[in-house]
Amino acid sequence: MKIAMVGSGYVGLVSGACFADFGHEVVCIDKDETKIQRLLHGMMPIYEPGLAELVESNVAARRLSFTTDLAEGIAGAQAIFIAVGTPSRRGDGHADLSYVYAVAQEVGEHLSNDAVIVTKSTVPVGTGDEVERILRECNPGHRFSVVSNPEFLREGAAIGDFKRPDRIVIGAEDDFGRSVMREVYRPLFLNESPILFVSRRSSELTKYAANAFLAVKITFINEMADLCEKVGGNVQDVARGIGLDNRIGSKFLHAGPGYGGSCFPKDTLALLKTAEDYDSPVRIVEAVVKVNDARKRAMGRKVVDALGGAEEARGKRVAMLGLTFKPNTDDMRDSPSIAIAQTLADAGVTVAAYDPEGMEQAQPLMPQVDMKQDPYAAIEGADAIVLVTEWDAFRALDLGRIKAIAKAPVLVDLRNVYKPEHLREAGFTYLSVGRGTSG
Ligand code: NAD
Repeated sequence: MKIAMVGSGYVGLVSGACFADFGHEVVCIDKDETKIQRLLHGMMPIYEPGLAELVESNVAARRLSFTTDLAEGIAGAQAIFIAVGTPSRRGDGHADLSYVYAVAQEVGEHLSNDAVIVTKSTVPVGTGDEVERILRECNPGHRFSVVSNPEFLREGAAIGDFKRPDRIVIGAEDDFGRSVMREVYRPLFLNESPILFVSRRSSELTKYAANAFLAVKITFINEMADLCEKVGGNVQDVARGIGLDNRIGSKFLHAGPGYGGSCFPKDTLALLKTAEDYDSPVRIVEAVVKVNDARKRAMGRKVVDALGGAEEARGKRVAMLGLTFKPNTDDMRDSPSIAIAQTLADAGVTVAAYDPEGMEQAQPLMPQVDMKQDPYAAIEGADAIVLVTEWDAFRALDLGRIKAIAKAPVLVDLRNVYKPEHLREAGFTYLSVGRGTSG
């Protein structure tokens, strides 16, 4: 089957490469000339484990190709995926659908055969109706069906998630849409990944409901962590104690600096806007958005406190370890590190940082931060270290070396990577998240 993927970012490129690996013939399209040029030269525009190898083998097998020319890319494709960005619209938090609609328009103008147009981008309820309207207005002269197929992959584990998904959700309104989508995902039927056929609107809402629910879970445990600090409990014990209950589940119960990334912040906001438009408030999600926003700066203040408070902190130096919103990605969108770095800058603290993959994307977002080539270069002369992202590279830091080169052995561990007793025995002042008065 020939598939066209319009938008070759984190989702489009991974999905396209995986579909090719399933045996489909895939063309990844992007209007970003540099991105396509890099791909044509075998260079990955993003960091995602295993992606370079997957792309290389499928290009070699002639199942995967790249172009900036949409008309050429979609010619003959039975399924045309839209996987462009849907960022928060400046000013009001609604999902910005201009990229999705621009693609719909272009596809409508160039459709040269019968095809299913599939929205993989995360889009608010009703977007499929509008995509269908745009296509119809273009009078494409071919049969088409508009389907919703939201993506649930996680950056950093994207290929595994795409190839072995917990479920595939397909929102289709007719048999043509359903039958083409069945063909697209046939290799996964064989893996027995559950595939849910629902209405297009249910499918669109499912993606937002899933992300909002996960954001609720994270924020819930973060607030329990704060309470643990006050009452002298250990949030990791509480999380394990509730997580072993199958009705709750143990995933997404890790206390930390607040959720970030390219999806949760914008998708929770967009869901609030949908709820507002339909006069059907989602008050839990409203609270979650507020709590999470406040938490990021609160983490910066935690570091200021570790430096001895606002007066003492001014002029001091902090080493930030990890900048991306989670490990194994170079994605800096809405990372908590941005608010933490800003809070420290506002308090007159100088920051040096190291991240294994994210520094290039991070630098323009935090121009005041001095990027270093390894963790120890960032730590040299620091009055405190803050561990923001739990990259493997930070799990076994050389504590002796740190003591020798840091000005003061103070570690604020926002991911609870280390054991408090261990760090204290090593002579550190150690603060973490939600581990009682001793944490
Ligand atoms: P991205 O910014 O990495 O990629 C989007 C790409 O689309 C860019 O390369 C851009 O140049 C291209 N593009 C924009 N307009 C175009 C056009 N008219 N023609 C061709 N290409 C065009 O975004 P992403 O992270 O891949 O996210 C895409 C969508 O998937 C979003 O709606 C997002 O919410 C959703 N999503 C993302 C993730 C994730 O982990 N990143 C997970 C699930 C769902």
